[in-house]
Amino acid sequence: MDLTTRLHLLELVRISASAESSCRAAERAARRAALRRKSAAAARPRLRLTLRTTGCADVEDPARALADAEREYDACAVQAESAGARWRRAFTASQRADASLGEELARTRELSGSAKPRRKGARLTAETALLAELAAMPETLIRAAAAILVQSSAGKDSVVALDRVVRWAKAAGCLDKVVVVHADIGQDAEWPGVRDLAQQQAERYGLRFEVVKASVGFLGMVEKRGLWPDAQNRLCTSTLKRDEAAKLFTQIVDELGLDKQALIVNCLGIRAAESPSRRRKHELAIDHRASNGRRLVLTWHPVFKLSESDIWQEIADNTLDYHPVYDTLIPRLSCIFCILASFDVLVRAVRLCWVLGLPTPKTYVDLEERIGHRFKNQFSLAEVVAEASRREAAEGPITWRRGDAIRHHLGDDAAAAYLHRLALTA
Ligand code: SF4
Repeated sequence: MDLTTRLHLLELVRISASAESSCRAAERAARRAALRRKSAAAARPRLRLTLRTTGCADVEDPARALADAEREYDACAVQAESAGARWRRAFTASQRADASLGEELARTRELSGSAKPRRKGARLTAETALLAELAAMPETLIRAAAAILVQSSAGKDSVVALDRVVRWAKAAGCLDKVVVVHADIGQDAEWPGVRDLAQQQAERYGLRFEVVKASVGFLGMVEKRGLWPDAQNRLCTSTLKRDEAAKLFTQIVDELGLDKQALIVNCLGIRAAESPSRRRKHELAIDHRASNGRRLVLTWHPVFKLSESDIWQEIADNTLDYHPVYDTLIPRLSCIFCILASFDVLVRAVRLCWVLGLPTPKTYVDLEERIGHRFKNQFSLAEVVAEASRREAAEGPITWRRGDAIRHHLGDDAAAAYLHRLALTA
């Protein structure tokens, strides 16, 4: 199957999924309006009776309450009618999209068993097969893309993902399509030097570098909500990173000025081995939320199958620069205090802040006290700081040497060789 056909089928899959989700949304809206109409209808006879009797009113002004209930009933009837019409349109669109996807698949005769995806399961099978085949052809994918965005936190997984994408893009003769994007979540929440390192990592390959930033940073968001995010509600990632990056999709598509739908490949340095929820993701997926008629956005995880040691091996082999925080054996270059980090990692982060003279532990503990919400369900940041003080008193300040991260993962010889090569490139 040629690439144009593959992308055409993926677009049909996207249209079909989007029609189905509009259909479900309209169905929910119709159900909600019908329920409200039913309860407004039930209130009317009771209020009419109240108006005819005395001394039994449970409302101050029964006449006004009855008029309100009549209005509510009429409004709900209109809403239910319009949601029902929306559902009928969405259902027809969904049927049409499924049918045209089925016809196209049958015509290509290459995805056996999924020729008539009239059910969601069959469409997913077709989608999974098409994307798995594309993920196995990185250079072809890059050649087909109008733009390739690499989301970089400057962390170890991002830098390896970037290096891989650059190698494939060079081989495909498309390096000019690659843009590195860094989401700034606030200087008071990030380790010093993160943004500059992300920029240097992009400049090493001569790539365009873009910084996206929400109007309110991580701490501002927590202050405003009065709550810390958690693993189930990762508003920090969705609001401060994903939504801001999505604005860049619009800008880049505008810049491209194409007269057809643009294929945007959005690369993230996430790995299956990091967590069970990440394991459930795919190497390549349609970003249904960010895609529309003007752009088909594919999310690509170029380091999805790598282990942590593989990552360090690629960093060492390709002499990639990494942030010194890793040398203190803090495993992720995330926010200084990440809501997903373990107790011990947070304790180590507090102690590193003290060595670096950062005010962050106090800023976070003060915020925690002000909003009255614990940093994590299991423990507060105040408890983390108390434990850090205890360990500091027993062990003294933490120390580290450049190369300790590689020493820890790959051994002394690998660290010495890496540092030697790094010095030569400086
Ligand atoms: S690093 Fe952790 S706290 Fe920071 S934005 Fe990501 S998930 Fe949220």
